[in-house]
Amino acid sequence: MGEYIMTIDAGTASVRAVIYNRKGECVSIAAQEFEQHYPQNGWIEHDANDIWAAACAVIKRSLQQKGLNDSEIKAIGVTNQRETVVVWDKNDGKPIYHAIVWGDRRTADYCEELRRAGHENMIKQKTGLVLDAYFSGTKIKWILDNVDGARSRAEKGDLLFSNIDGWIIWNLTKGSAHVTDYSNASRTLIYNISELKWDKDLLKLFTIPESMLPQVLPSSGHFANTSSTVFSTPIPIEGCIGDQQSATFGQCCFQEGFSKFTYGTAGTMTVNTGGAPIVSKNGMLTTIGWGYGGKVQYLLEGTVYNAGSTIQWLRDEMKFVEESRDSEYFALKAKTVGQVYLIPAFSGFGAPYWDSYARAAILGLSRGSEKNDVIRAALDSLAYQTRDMLDAMNEDLPKPIHLLRVDGGACKNTLMVQFIADVTGIDVERPSDVETTAAGAAYLAGLSIGFWKDLDEITGLRKVDKVFVPEISADRRAELYGGWKRAVNSILSWSKNK
Ligand code: ADP
Repeated sequence: MGEYIMTIDAGTASVRAVIYNRKGECVSIAAQEFEQHYPQNGWIEHDANDIWAAACAVIKRSLQQKGLNDSEIKAIGVTNQRETVVVWDKNDGKPIYHAIVWGDRRTADYCEELRRAGHENMIKQKTGLVLDAYFSGTKIKWILDNVDGARSRAEKGDLLFSNIDGWIIWNLTKGSAHVTDYSNASRTLIYNISELKWDKDLLKLFTIPESMLPQVLPSSGHFANTSSTVFSTPIPIEGCIGDQQSATFGQCCFQEGFSKFTYGTAGTMTVNTGGAPIVSKNGMLTTIGWGYGGKVQYLLEGTVYNAGSTIQWLRDEMKFVEESRDSEYFALKAKTVGQVYLIPAFSGFGAPYWDSYARAAILGLSRGSEKNDVIRAALDSLAYQTRDMLDAMNEDLPKPIHLLRVDGGACKNTLMVQFIADVTGIDVERPSDVETTAAGAAYLAGLSIGFWKDLDEITGLRKVDKVFVPEISADRRAELYGGWKRAVNSILSWSKNK
């Protein structure tokens, strides 16, 4: 009989079950995609039943494909796409509407209304978030206002809300646990991140009955035992954490000043700011990292909209590469570095520029420029955006960041990661396993039951593939980054916003 921890990683496109052994190695992984619904321009929905069905399928498959028994799983950790809203009836367990996904923009006008009414600063102070349709609060209100009979059922106490984590745990426990953790609660726009409680003023503003809300618990600790038939025996659920926070934990950024950048479709940087929230002067979000060991850790977080998606654009629209990974091969053949710049503001520019009307551009082409120069410029744009984010974070922090840990699919690209070190001027560390999201939730669950003793033991499990050290001179760095800044300024001055 072996002993393992299972993570259920409920992402935006797929659900995965990942099983880890005591050395922190992944021994089995199963994934299943589910359907995305786009009922109107700017709307994105999931059927929460599809997500639960996918979770059941991958749980079973991850065990079967390695011939493991359910009883060999000592604890479960859950990690999830954040902010996505599920509202269901607690009597029959049926969602009353599709889950409204984080990227859904249907409540953007309502957010604008709240901004005009002067609520933005109060919301930022309490939640650490910017007032945006991205977060859960306005989506919950939308369901209550727009689904027939929803508001009266909610007021009677029949309806429950949670993000995907709470929905999965509720189903795993056959409706006996309605819970979430600090990190997920901190993305709802109705949770006070300093007082660690649902905020009565915000619930009143968004007209959300408190009876709908899950109990908020530390990210590592006993949430409940499973009772669903998906497992033949009850298994304790001991970890729960939002995906970006989980990747931060999975990268062992346990101490203040430790930071990671995840290069997925989008790119998200987080930095651990210790036991007190820091309010950003540069539009970064303040969020709860996790609750562990009787303490709460806070993060600063910033997202660039287009990271790996820029490489997808080269592949799918430009047809410059057949597969994303080929970008490295062609970029190595580029004749120039630092002459052609690609600004990937395809859907506006996020942190730290915040211009939703900006659009992408390629600048600096000469008559001799080739496809390879553009591919190289696309990869370089991930590095320059990292530098932008790092500089903005450093302005908010008491001490500058001296090391960046990277993960996500695109950081398999070695040329790109070296260029990140070159352009930022700091060391960049790539772990052997770049799938850090699932690892974080497993670590939290394992710590809770003593499967792993403490954070030092977890740090010892993490294997580093390579530390990339800056290889260019400070002058060259200034020259390259100066070119990026000029290119960014030119697209910002072209933007309709001006
Ligand atoms: P997500 O979790 O957001 O779906 P992943 O972490 O799986 O994303 O990363 C996939 C992204 O990384 C895609 O946008 C893909 O184009 C990009 N990508 C994958 N491999 C490489 C590579 N070797 N070089 C550059 N980009 C890559």
